[in-house]
Amino acid sequence: MSDHEKPGPGNFIRTIISEDLAGGKHQRVVTRFPPEPNGYLHLGHAKSICLNFGIAREFTDKMTLARCHLRFDDTNPSTEEAAYVEAIREDVLWLGFDWGEHLYFASDYFTTLYEYAEHLIKNDQAYVCDLSAEEIRATRGTLTTAGRDSPFRHRSRTENLDLFRQMRAGAFADGTRVLRAKIDMAAANLNLRDPVLYRIIHRRHHRSGDKWCIYPMYDYAHPISDAHEHITHSLCTLEFADHRPLYDWFLANLPVPCRPRQIEFARLNLGYTVLSKRKLQQLVNEGCVSGWDDPRMPTLAAVRRRGYPAAAIRNFCDKIGVAKKESLVDLSLIEHCVREDLNENAVRVMGILNPLKVIINNYPTGQSEELIAQNHPQKPEMGTRLLPFGREIYIEREDFMAEPVKNFFRLAPGQEVRLRYAYFIKCREVIKDEQGEIIGIICSYDPATIGGKAPDGRRVKGTIHWVAADRAITAELRLYDRLFTVENPEKAAAAGAVLKDFINPESRVTLQGCRLEPSLADARLDQHYQFERQGYFCLDRQDSQPQHPVFNRTITLRDTWEKIKAR
Ligand code: ATP
Ligand code: MG
Repeated sequence: MSDHEKPGPGNFIRTIISEDLAGGKHQRVVTRFPPEPNGYLHLGHAKSICLNFGIAREFTDKMTLARCHLRFDDTNPSTEEAAYVEAIREDVLWLGFDWGEHLYFASDYFTTLYEYAEHLIKNDQAYVCDLSAEEIRATRGTLTTAGRDSPFRHRSRTENLDLFRQMRAGAFADGTRVLRAKIDMAAANLNLRDPVLYRIIHRRHHRSGDKWCIYPMYDYAHPISDAHEHITHSLCTLEFADHRPLYDWFLANLPVPCRPRQIEFARLNLGYTVLSKRKLQQLVNEGCVSGWDDPRMPTLAAVRRRGYPAAAIRNFCDKIGVAKKESLVDLSLIEHCVREDLNENAVRVMGILNPLKVIINNYPTGQSEELIAQNHPQKPEMGTRLLPFGREIYIEREDFMAEPVKNFFRLAPGQEVRLRYAYFIKCREVIKDEQGEIIGIICSYDPATIGGKAPDGRRVKGTIHWVAADRAITAELRLYDRLFTVENPEKAAAAGAVLKDFINPESRVTLQGCRLEPSLADARLDQHYQFERQGYFCLDRQDSQPQHPVFNRTITLRDTWEKIKAR
């Protein structure tokens, strides 16, 4: 059993399911993940995917095959696009889950949904209402006052049937009529006050084309879709708790093949970001980010591009668990999971973000050599590679100080350091341009210190990374930070501001002319790299070109943010 197949932590939903199975209520568990294809999936959806597909995996044993369906809730042609369907499928597979043969579309049920609507009309449980959307809202009442009956509530079944068929046939314009359930305008639960079942939308649907000009509402389509797929447990987020009586009303009043049980859980909220497709869409539309897959976004496409491993996200979802109470999860928790995974799996390499040229004046001109470096010092099984070394190298600008402060153990005039996997070098001279800017330094090396140890036992306090100047590849590096400057941007924006105001201007910093060791010329998209001392990086799948490699910093090595906050 791989890590990924281990049963997740116990939670109240698993307890309910175990009881239902033990009591003989079901022979097998069937769950579903029902995205609306109106945007890209985000980390909140990952929680739902891990929960639904995770349950199917856990409750599968030798006797019973549990399963999880992927169902596109494509009932609204105004906001949905086929491109999102493709992206969502890719994201679910990438997260490590597979629906097998069980791919469904709510639009596949349009005929059944229509027939069920006629069934309700014939039972005097639905009517065609000519009130406008505003009028319906205005007569709905409030939490403390009952709603008012629509003047069309008492239409005859025959008239309703006739009008509904005309609606379907395209006789009326958008917004002129709706079909409503006839439940109770005085119900304490507002969702039961004659909710709308169908509205007129003359618009082409990505799958059914122009076949329909009336489209069902989510609350109506969802329980029926669940029942038709024999879903046993329909898991959704807390905001649907108030809709559950309506969900159950449809199942009780329609000739459905079974009665799924809706169970609600708390949605994931994550600090310094927003988890709402609508708000993410807004950031894309307003140009605050480069697109849905901008590596600063919390979408699965973005975090994949940024280098978050799928296993780290699954592990994160396990760690946050599933509860009944909303909370704001600290971003550092997912970052911890990402670091944990990358620390295990990333190949160690050297790359210079801000290059400073070093000339080793006693290294013979024209000579070069190859030194052995480990790909992962704690995991010898990950092998070694060769690093070219020569007279000219680059080091990190910040690893040199012309006038070192106290306890600065890296390179400074007269000071000696170790070059990782190579030699000790000592700074002899600083080269400046006419403006007094340091443009390079001259060092000497001690050939006896090959491998980083001095035979005379002398020690150095600092070890720095480097790359050979003539063999280095030049790359663009993109460094990311939190997208927003405030932990709860939605709350901040609710207080009269807009989301845009809270975008962190330093959330993306682009560095050009970075120098990387030559092994990175063959960097692979499916490989994560630790640039020693600098963080974890991966090749950018969108913008990287063989002639112009681009790497994203997935995450820094340690959590610097916590320290900054503490200050
Ligand atoms: P959004 O608010 O981002 O538009 P949504 O709920 O409208 O999300 P859907 O496509 O309808 O998006 O969601 C598919 C499933 O994912 C639903 O069952 C929903 O409850 C679940 N889901 C959405 N957001 C979260 C979240 N933040 N945490 C957990 N589950 C979520
Ligand atoms: Mg939704």
